[in-house]
Amino acid sequence: MKKITIAIDGHSSCGKSTMAKDLAREIGYIYIDSGAMYRAVTYYCLQHDLFTEDSVKLPELQAAMPDIQITFRLNAEGRPETYLGGECIEKEIRGMAVSSRVSLIATIGFVREAMVALQQQMGRNKGIVMDGRDIGTTVFPDAELKVFVTASAEVRAQRRYDELKAKGEEASYESILENVKERDRIDSGRAISPLRKADDAILLDNSTMTIPEQKAWLLEEFKRAAQCTI
Ligand code: C5P
Repeated sequence: MKKITIAIDGHSSCGKSTMAKDLAREIGYIYIDSGAMYRAVTYYCLQHDLFTEDSVKLPELQAAMPDIQITFRLNAEGRPETYLGGECIEKEIRGMAVSSRVSLIATIGFVREAMVALQQQMGRNKGIVMDGRDIGTTVFPDAELKVFVTASAEVRAQRRYDELKAKGEEASYESILENVKERDRIDSGRAISPLRKADDAILLDNSTMTIPEQKAWLLEEFKRAAQCTI
């Protein structure tokens, strides 16, 4: 069967990564978490003191872009982890310090340009599942399968809260809910590649679906899309 490109976009914390990762494993495709790339740039800014009180030191960040080398490597269990240079930053990029600043970083044009170029390079041979906010609209507008996932902000915040608790991390449901809503607002309102459903994307509201149900649904959609390209 010919390999295709699969773009999974949607709101923050709606389970896109879980769905995308599971599908990629099942069908033997590469999985790329594009949000992790924006998170890695944010982590770099925190490490290099590039944030001011309410903004970013743009000239310094622009000059640093060539030094920000983002890669993914599989860990011992076969799960992809994010690296900045030689350092594994998978845990660091999931915390609130990064989550509360990442959407600001994702509004910056030269950051988006660099990330999109890297993402397109990663997907040049197809056989890829990528999740994010602009994959179906900007990164791979010709993707054979596009899905736009959403769920209510409260359901998404609860899932994120449960996930952090399960990992034994400190979490406040209220601050997570606030962060989810704030990221939606910034992601949907930004000038460059705002979060929106591509016209040819399939809408999936997974508020009341279990993970196995979503997995089965996506596999069926993949089969349908891949059949069309034989
Ligand atoms: O997917 P995740 O929640 O980890 O993404 C973190 C942030 O990165 C999003 O809130 C959004 O601001 C940004 N992002 C983006 N475009 C993408 C992926 C993520 O702007 N393709």
